[in-house]
Amino acid sequence: MIHIEGASRVYRRRGRKAVAAIDQVDLRVERGEFVCVRGPSGSGKSTLLLTIGAMLRPSAGRVEVAGEQVYALGARSRAAFRAEKIGFVFQLFHLLPYLDVRANIAAASGRVGGKARDAAVDELLERVGLAGRADHLPAELSAGECQRVAVARALLHRPVLLLADEPTGNLDPRSSSAVESLFGEYRAQGGTILMVSHDRTPFEGVDRTIHLAEGRVASEPGARDT
Ligand code: ADP
Ligand code: MG
Repeated sequence: MIHIEGASRVYRRRGRKAVAAIDQVDLRVERGEFVCVRGPSGSGKSTLLLTIGAMLRPSAGRVEVAGEQVYALGARSRAAFRAEKIGFVFQLFHLLPYLDVRANIAAASGRVGGKARDAAVDELLERVGLAGRADHLPAELSAGECQRVAVARALLHRPVLLLADEPTGNLDPRSSSAVESLFGEYRAQGGTILMVSHDRTPFEGVDRTIHLAEGRVASEPGARDT
């Protein structure tokens, strides 16, 4: 599902040292796997996820996702690829402030319209415990509630790959377990998950953990999660 070779992303700032946010990363994730990426703040986790999510072109290296060399695609095809294949939970939610909860979730899947979509949105809202918040704006929600909306939005279009940047970072234990069971269900339906986390809280269903340190993969791929 994900096959990366030698991926690096260098940030250059005038008058400052260049920072390699990710540095020669090789990574393979098979279809149906649930892989967790851990590492301290600044180790390159978000950069890696955006690179895999077809949103951030690497300075060097090869990025294949769902059988596609994503950075060989033109901007328009790459956006279409992303909309169809990938669900992304951003670290800072990226909800649209002027849309209510229902519209924020529905906005992710422009092509599936009408009753079927409304029913799917309602079902997801129920699952994340926000059925009573459908007409609230993001500013009227707590951080944990925003995070649950972001997870629902990422899953609505049934992506083949779910990329999640610290999806439980702002959640209390009860909301976290709602996210865990949504992820578990998504996987039972054949989904693949790559999730970033900076803490050591165990997350149900993770097959394998990869450690990042200063932009490099620090552990053997294939090491089992403990
Ligand atoms: P993490 O998600 O693990 O906290 P990031 O991928 O956000 O790490 O960042 C990795 C490194 O790259 C950090 O040193 C960060 O300061 C730097 N970095 C990230 N984004 C940018 C950017 N847009 N411009 C310059 N440096 C950046
Ligand atoms: Mg980050």
